[in-house]
Amino acid sequence: MRQVLSVASECAPLVKTGGLADVAGALPGAMAAEGWQLKTLLPGYPAVMEALKRPRALRNESDLMGGPARLLGGKVAGLDLFVLDAPHLYDRPGSIYLGPDGKDWPDNPERFAALSWMAASIAAEGIGNWRPEVLHLHDWQAGLVPVYLHEMEAADRVGTLLTIHNIAFHGLAPASKLKSMRLPQWGFHPEGFEFYGQIDALKAGLKFSNKLSTVSPTYARELMLPEFGMGLDGVLRARQADLVGILNGIDGIVWDPKTDPAIANYKSPKKKAANRGRLIEEFGLAQTDGPLAVVISRLTEQKGLDLLLQALPEFVARGGQVALLGSGDAALEKAWMEAAESMPQVSVRIGYDEPLSHRMMAGGDAVIVPSRFEPCGLTQLYGLRYGAIPVVAMTGGLADTVINANDAAVAADVATGFQFHPVTADALEAALMRLCDVYSNKSAFERMQRRAMAHPVGWSASAPRYAALYESLGTHP
Ligand code: ADP
Repeated sequence: MRQVLSVASECAPLVKTGGLADVAGALPGAMAAEGWQLKTLLPGYPAVMEALKRPRALRNESDLMGGPARLLGGKVAGLDLFVLDAPHLYDRPGSIYLGPDGKDWPDNPERFAALSWMAASIAAEGIGNWRPEVLHLHDWQAGLVPVYLHEMEAADRVGTLLTIHNIAFHGLAPASKLKSMRLPQWGFHPEGFEFYGQIDALKAGLKFSNKLSTVSPTYARELMLPEFGMGLDGVLRARQADLVGILNGIDGIVWDPKTDPAIANYKSPKKKAANRGRLIEEFGLAQTDGPLAVVISRLTEQKGLDLLLQALPEFVARGGQVALLGSGDAALEKAWMEAAESMPQVSVRIGYDEPLSHRMMAGGDAVIVPSRFEPCGLTQLYGLRYGAIPVVAMTGGLADTVINANDAAVAADVATGFQFHPVTADALEAALMRLCDVYSNKSAFERMQRRAMAHPVGWSASAPRYAALYESLGTHP
């Protein structure tokens, strides 16, 4: 098999804060079927170190950005891992990105510069006689790899692909850190990795990787627009010829309503009823004739859940109910808890709970994703698979994965969900009214659920596209 080193800051099932982890965890399995073996380089967070039983020590560094480090190798949960064990950078409790004050760890630039440096070093020197043909870099945390490769004079030894999972996060650092991050002065200007006087790790990846991808065709186009590019739209326009959008798939073993251990299994939407009943009970809601919609999300500005708060009164007036699971911004958490206080049709769990997220997809009639931007989005894909009809903003991957129930699509029986545009509370409310309309026609709604459940959401279309990209970068015939 041909070899790829995948470099990520999180990877399911070991450590996850969002969709990046799902993708980093699912890609190795999906790409093996295409003849590419992915080994994944991860930081040695406590959860990763704990899961790594009997690791092999592969390399020692006496000083990697402020302390000693080891590169370990091992297999966990079917994944081939390299783990960067650097206690001064990763051995800390709580969130992998945030300190106890809820702010980024101050040394995040060094933490992920070290990961990137190690990735470049593995590609430059190999591990024994193992060498990757391609480095698959994920987000800003791996963005500096091509710079280090250049410094190691190894840029021609390996192809680099950077995948943008979310351009909102740049990985900025003050210029005073150039030295501690082992970065060369030559790159620090606007045509390199400088972003308005700061070091920008994502920009480094966008400027110097051989190829770029993002996680949906629509987001690939949006990224080149000022409204979505977060200051890097010009960089992406300049690299348009090297940028493609490839949809994420879901892990079809973890997310399968026929075998999911967290739920009462079902093949057809009729059999969702048992799960729906349990979910209503679990959230203290009522058995009504209206749709039960679920939300599973980080609570941030991006996700548009403030818009849903505004649309709630009309939705519950039509008999709708909402169960929300999420955590994030304190103000949004508070606003949702207040909504739950004042409306018995709304129930909220603040927290992060994977088994509960499965029960919600299994029990929900619909899943609402009103994101202002959404590179791909995974929850609408889980919704499709589980027959929880997506009600989504028409942006990014949400635009690419749901077939909107406009009049023509309803008449032709092809729709799999509801999309709204522009991303406003009024447009969302109108989409929720359309959901209520279709929901009131039981057989039409069930046909929509059946189509949703049959819609392909795995890796079968996307894996060959990544394989073609790897092939275009590979160093061997
Ligand atoms: P993002 O990566 O922007 O957060 P995605 O939709 O791509 O958005 O991925 C989010 C992932 O995190 C999904 O797998 C979703 O189920 C999961 N998730 C988000 N919030 C929670 C939560 N509170 N509890 C359990 N899972 C969650």
